[in-house]
Amino acid sequence: MNRDVMPVDVVFVGAGPANLAAAWKLGRILEEKGRAGDFEIMVIEKGREVGDHILSGAIMDPRGMVELFGNEWREAGCPVDAEVKREAVYTLRERSASKMPFTPPPLKNEGNFVVTLSKVVRWMKEKVEELGIMVAEGYPAADVLLEDRTVKGVRLVDRGHDKDGNETGSFEPGADVQARITVLGEGTRGSLTKILTEKLGLEGRNPQVYGTGVKEVWDIPAGRIEAGTVWHTAGWPLEDRAYGGSWVYAMSPTRVSIGFVVGLDAGDPALDPYEIMQTWKTHTLIRELLEGGKLVKAGAKTVPEGGWWSRPRSHGDGFLIIGDSASLLNIARLKGIHTAIGSGILAAETIAEALLEDDTSERALSRYTERLERSWIRDELWRTRNWRASFARHGYRLGRFHAGLSWVLGGKILKDPLPLHPDHEAMRKGDARKGRTFQPDGKLTFDKLTGVYHAGSVHEENQPSHLLISDTDLCVTRCAEEYGNPCERFCPAAVYEIVTEAENRRRMQINFSNCVHCKTCDILDPYQVITWTVPEDNGGPKYLGL
Ligand code: SF4
Repeated sequence: MNRDVMPVDVVFVGAGPANLAAAWKLGRILEEKGRAGDFEIMVIEKGREVGDHILSGAIMDPRGMVELFGNEWREAGCPVDAEVKREAVYTLRERSASKMPFTPPPLKNEGNFVVTLSKVVRWMKEKVEELGIMVAEGYPAADVLLEDRTVKGVRLVDRGHDKDGNETGSFEPGADVQARITVLGEGTRGSLTKILTEKLGLEGRNPQVYGTGVKEVWDIPAGRIEAGTVWHTAGWPLEDRAYGGSWVYAMSPTRVSIGFVVGLDAGDPALDPYEIMQTWKTHTLIRELLEGGKLVKAGAKTVPEGGWWSRPRSHGDGFLIIGDSASLLNIARLKGIHTAIGSGILAAETIAEALLEDDTSERALSRYTERLERSWIRDELWRTRNWRASFARHGYRLGRFHAGLSWVLGGKILKDPLPLHPDHEAMRKGDARKGRTFQPDGKLTFDKLTGVYHAGSVHEENQPSHLLISDTDLCVTRCAEEYGNPCERFCPAAVYEIVTEAENRRRMQINFSNCVHCKTCDILDPYQVITWTVPEDNGGPKYLGL
């Protein structure tokens, strides 16, 4: 098969905050050295437009932005919804809410900003392009080009198959983007990061663990909340053993970002992050905020919660891994934008040296990890390195005490590292269909297809499913018996559906067009037979504004 070849010096895979920061910083360093014209640098993004596939709460600690663009980062045009003005943390029970007398230190947000990350990355893309660096939108990378243990770039997805996998008249093999350095900044559960981690054995000391966050943006009547107000809640509707909680961020007096993140190690085959979020909205505290308002946008995404000990080895011959893909999110603070940007800066400094010295070997790129280990990112993540494992081991109440004590003591206690296990291993045998009573009212609470509509998610129907199940017989036999098909519950977009056909024959139907690219299925399927891959058509959600 004849493939086009695009030779570049550096390819950044994924246009999120980590890679856009890295591309911009690299461009500036090369400009300062008078070498900007000597190297070909490219950012590729799977979404049709930068920001389409980005979803975050989000409260941004400005440290990364200040380091990248200086104290004038806001004057430079970075979009901000509101500065955090007041905050509260509540413990919810079904019929009550107790406000904590103080905000736990990791959750303090003084000096931070409510932002819409999809808009922030669009602005960062413009900054990168101002330096003459190409940001190629609608370029999904399907595989890593690996020779021995050296990464030589990425292969873009082949296009032009019909739904049965046959080549159509418009078939086009994906080009090979051949690069001396490939930077994976794909965000949570990156598909190329997963491939590379498996092939090169890059796993960290602990496996990565995740939560799934479901987010909505609402327009609400004025007078209920002030811009810059931040609430977090713990407790109901989660059971005691489950890790998770919610947020309310007031973007303006009439627009709020709300969401709920639930840890995927809860063990319950009936775990349904979407329904948990909808149920949470019926609590008086939230209902009174939203009533009479209007759902504007919705979406879902996983969150890499493992922290410091779950970092994969993030450098090697011809590659770096940065941002969420490198497990740099601080789950105790619910923040990862600043650390993603920080890691991008460290990657850029390393890449610039490597290019100027004409050495892209593992030895040269290991300076990224050395820089990371000397950085404020390490200090921040080291303090909370066993945070998630404390909850996994002790449950929510005792875990909160354990993790909190470790925080107060600056992370100086606890055995290192406390172990974590892959989320799917925690799933207990049972019946995912049991206890299915949720009924949306269409005003405050909605079904999953309404969520998909508000995510703007669309895929061309006449293409192969980008969700691969290696053994669909298992779905209607072993999985149905042992777990009751938990994928029907945990997928927030109603993609997986067991349908009954003639003679009572059952089969798995994959409604892949609904997929909002959250990656929960790739993580939580108990038999690990589901693989999320990039769709051929650049389809997926349209999260701009979410
Ligand atoms: Fe998320 Fe998988 Fe469902 Fe897509 S199919 S929305 S990646 S759980």
